[in-house]
Amino acid sequence: MTSKRDIIFKEFDFSKKPELKTDLLHTIQYAIKSAISQRDPVMQWIWQPSINAIDDMCAAAEDPTDVVLIGFNLAPEMIYAMGLKPVCPEGLSFLCPTEYLIPYIDESHKAFIPDHLCSFLSGSIGMAISNAIPKPVAIVHTSQPCDNSIAQSTALADFYGVEPYIIDSPYYDNDEAYDYFAVQIKEGFRYLEQMTGKKLDIDRFREVMARSQRAHELVHEINELKKRKPCPIPTGAILRQLSIGMYGQTGSEHLVRWLEKHLEDARERAHKGIGGQHEEKIRTAWIYAWPSFEWTIYEWLGKKYGAIPVIFQASEYFYTPKSSGDFDDLCRSLAIRILSCPMGRSSRGHLDYFVRDSAYWCKEWSIDAAIFAGHLQCKANWSVAQITKEVLMDELGVPMLSFVVDALDPRVTSTEQMLGYIEPFLEMVAENKELEKIG
Ligand code: SF4
Repeated sequence: MTSKRDIIFKEFDFSKKPELKTDLLHTIQYAIKSAISQRDPVMQWIWQPSINAIDDMCAAAEDPTDVVLIGFNLAPEMIYAMGLKPVCPEGLSFLCPTEYLIPYIDESHKAFIPDHLCSFLSGSIGMAISNAIPKPVAIVHTSQPCDNSIAQSTALADFYGVEPYIIDSPYYDNDEAYDYFAVQIKEGFRYLEQMTGKKLDIDRFREVMARSQRAHELVHEINELKKRKPCPIPTGAILRQLSIGMYGQTGSEHLVRWLEKHLEDARERAHKGIGGQHEEKIRTAWIYAWPSFEWTIYEWLGKKYGAIPVIFQASEYFYTPKSSGDFDDLCRSLAIRILSCPMGRSSRGHLDYFVRDSAYWCKEWSIDAAIFAGHLQCKANWSVAQITKEVLMDELGVPMLSFVVDALDPRVTSTEQMLGYIEPFLEMVAENKELEKIG
């Protein structure tokens, strides 16, 4: 489609249904690597977390005897500590090209998965029942971020005939809650030992947790640099890649290496006083979902409005774990780390966390405009959209745009419709900034 906007967005044609019972993992791997190879070679390192994620899943599928399915709000450290291979089905929904994902979502609906189940999860159920995901030896989930997660893990457990282990995430974040969760992690190790016949190696657990700690420290340093103006990250796409790494690869060596490269690049840009491709005029925070079926839209917003995404709240981490290295303490550290993962923290308990976190990220990173692209099935977070909007305006003078979207499915809100919401909003923000300058 030739757009009035002097930019070509993707056109989706879902009338042609691809073969679902296919080698999906390698199809996704090929699609990701082909797309990255077309990018500027100097920038290709940015997408390494996606490559690592799909390469690890393809390797796991070659010998599924050690495969553990995990929910995306369960940190993979627990599985790495056991020397097992984590596969996150909703991670696959995320990595899957949209043209392939939509038929899997539809397939899950045909199998009586209701359409109010989160599309990240229904897509992965569609893949499972199409035999596109390796059969696991164990399934570990948490009850966070929302009830959708429990529904998905139960459906997968029924389909594979595998007894799942579901950790109950407490409502609050306090010492009692961390202890409650840590006890279940210990029980979870016993479950994994029984299901796989493997023994937990405490030294490996320490090494995994040390790498996890290092990853969190690096993210903290990167975030501090993001406070600079212009924001010294090469493209908003890096926020998405960081999310893939921090949700799915903490405790791995390759994530640490990528974050070191990310930090080095940000330091260099900060030192030179440069940002990314486009001049920064409006600093934006995506305070919940971030639609990912059409990435060109963000490049367009940068080019036309100088709108630079600085915060992607659903993957901004607070936690820097510290552990003495004894088993009890490692389990408690891991409990805090899992309960502090952004979506778990802001969706599982009192929604005031979401509101206060939104204000925190917008204030500390000097955000000009917040965008709440509310994922259709995130009912909990939608309940505080208006309160968040009022708090951001009353306390910080930051305007917030909200609209309904499905982060994965363009049939709910298309790219053109999204732009119909975002463009007038950014024009208003730009005008207000101009007026402020004049005084
Ligand atoms: S919180 Fe929202 S995006 Fe996350 S699993 Fe639940 S419905 Fe899906």
